[in-house]
Amino acid sequence: MLFAAAIFLVPGMQGQEASKHATGSTHPSELRVFDTSLVDKTVDPCENFYLYSCNGWFKRNPLPADQTRYGRFTELYELNRLHLKQILEGAASSQADSRNANEQKIGDEYASCMDTATIDKLGLKPLQPELDRIAALKSAGELPAELAHLHEIGVDAFFGMGSNQDFADASQVISFYGAGGLGLPERDYYTRTDAKSVEQRKQYVDHVRKMFVLAGEADEQAGKDADTVLAIETRLAKASLTVTEQRDPQSLNHPTDVASFEKQLPHFALGDYVTAAHAPTTGKMNDMEPKFFTEFDAVVAATPVDQVKTYLRWHLLHAFAGTSMPDAFDHENWNFYSHILNGAEKQQERWKRCTTRIDHELGEALGQVYVAKYFPPEDKQRALNMTVAIEQAMGKDIDSLEWMSPETKVKAKEKLHTVMNKIGYPDKWRDYSKLEIVRGDALGNQSRARAFEFARDLAKIGKPVDKAEWEMSPPTVNAYYNPQQNNVNFPAGYFQPPFFSDKEDDAANYGDMGSTIGHELTHGFDDEGRQFDKDGNLNNWWTKDDEKKFNERAQCMVKQYDAIEAVPGVHLNGKLTLGENLADLGGLWLAWLAWQDKAEAAHLDMNAKVDGYTPDQRFWVAYAQQWCTQTRPEQLRTQAQTNPHAPDEYRTNSVLQDLPEFAKSFNCKKDAKMVSATPCRVW
Ligand SMILES: [Zn+2]
Repeated sequence: MLFAAAIFLVPGMQGQEASKHATGSTHPSELRVFDTSLVDKTVDPCENFYLYSCNGWFKRNPLPADQTRYGRFTELYELNRLHLKQILEGAASSQADSRNANEQKIGDEYASCMDTATIDKLGLKPLQPELDRIAALKSAGELPAELAHLHEIGVDAFFGMGSNQDFADASQVISFYGAGGLGLPERDYYTRTDAKSVEQRKQYVDHVRKMFVLAGEADEQAGKDADTVLAIETRLAKASLTVTEQRDPQSLNHPTDVASFEKQLPHFALGDYVTAAHAPTTGKMNDMEPKFFTEFDAVVAATPVDQVKTYLRWHLLHAFAGTSMPDAFDHENWNFYSHILNGAEKQQERWKRCTTRIDHELGEALGQVYVAKYFPPEDKQRALNMTVAIEQAMGKDIDSLEWMSPETKVKAKEKLHTVMNKIGYPDKWRDYSKLEIVRGDALGNQSRARAFEFARDLAKIGKPVDKAEWEMSPPTVNAYYNPQQNNVNFPAGYFQPPFFSDKEDDAANYGDMGSTIGHELTHGFDDEGRQFDKDGNLNNWWTKDDEKKFNERAQCMVKQYDAIEAVPGVHLNGKLTLGENLADLGGLWLAWLAWQDKAEAAHLDMNAKVDGYTPDQRFWVAYAQQWCTQTRPEQLRTQAQTNPHAPDEYRTNSVLQDLPEFAKSFNCKKDAKMVSATPCRVW
């Protein structure tokens, strides 16, 4: 899922569980799609619509100590997580012989994760065989086979390898080799020279040192080893593409074959690597970042084997430092990644982290039970109806575009009509029978779950593409578009209040969930998605002139977001966030069109107020209220530097500033803050 574009960001997640979850102070039954009690009428909606729509929510929801950001999706996520916990506790405590195979796995894995007494007592013992393997390396010649093994168990050392659809022919699955091997969030953390970045690098080295000390090294040696890690990673980072460059599929498309790639790496026996990884030993593959791999080979050639071992040891500890390891490792890992980088003040409760872990490892075993309990067929039908309505709106929108030629419009509509709608959960559930879960072996289970996923991924190579497969588990509060498969995916966990409710009117549901459906659909036509054709091939279907016009219009948005200072001294990156910003604006516009059609068909009185709001006003407030989010400044900084999603405030205000229809609904004056003098518009 290289380019699959999701609606929500997953913040500050390094190595272990995401840190986006809350204690949840709101009772689930109080979650509303359109909630007048959240509106602050002392704020002028034409001056700051985000504050107007969300200030009541902000007052009611101070940021919990264990959160780096807490928003409305966190409210729903916490509710879903509570439901998952109940399922897991049931499976963990049931009599062994009364459970089916999936219940045994999710139950025993949850029990193993929760059993901190055993984890602490075992200490480093479960990881010792892996540490011994690294310690036994005698030369760089032995690196390839060991690296394959480490990749199999989820250790991100040096580079990444997996399967993906061929850019040129989306019906084929081939192996992809990509840059990797960094412990900091992305490459610019190694190169930026401002005071804050320099400080963060120092804190990172200190974190690596502490992890080595916990693993038994003497302090002085650990300090030297941490410096070694930073030196190797800095070389790799400098040869890697930036997060912005990685958004252009053309820059990641360098088809070659395994034999030619092997010649590019004279100091790394690729044959040994692919054999040990059970990856294809011949045939077409993609070298996503040739410059990186040249540098990787040079690093292998120039680095003494002891230093390579140090680097591997760090990434092994890093990959497992979470719920599988003793508290000291777990806490140190949290301290750097959640506290220092993202501002969390307290670690999340154990059950939350374990529930998230099982959702990640065995998502479709757990999700199957979840869906049966919480996602009835009527909900699936309702979701599908709404998706179809938004797609129809997009058809009309394409027809009405002034800037696009009839020729490109035909192609755009072809692509639109080929989009596959996936709602709720997979038709065919994943088979976990080959994954062994042993009660009391948290680290072994994690390692086997990763190896299972690694093998499952590589097994796709050479087989027909399975477009029915899901990249998110059913309880996930998120959604995505996959450009190589041209499908939109909406997990069951998302079609719930406060984003969607059959108890609320269309104005609210279209403003909220409708805009999300529109967002995902628009990803098929954003700066990245538009480069793929209806079949998912990287194949330009645009006329030169239309492409030029698209880029000019997109440039308006690049400028608009570049100008935003997210935290003092850190501006948003208009190019990095372009795809998401295009999807936000286009998506809301499509929802608006679909909602207007719906209102007209229902002969709705557009001046009649409910709770003091016209139907149109309800649409906009529902849109804004989905983004009510509290964010720590540290997290905001990390997000602005690494994440393709703009912060929630701008996902509301900046988008609405571009839509005169919004201004009209609230009678905003031309010079109001919420009205752009030069509104951007692409779709
Ligand atoms: Zn998105």
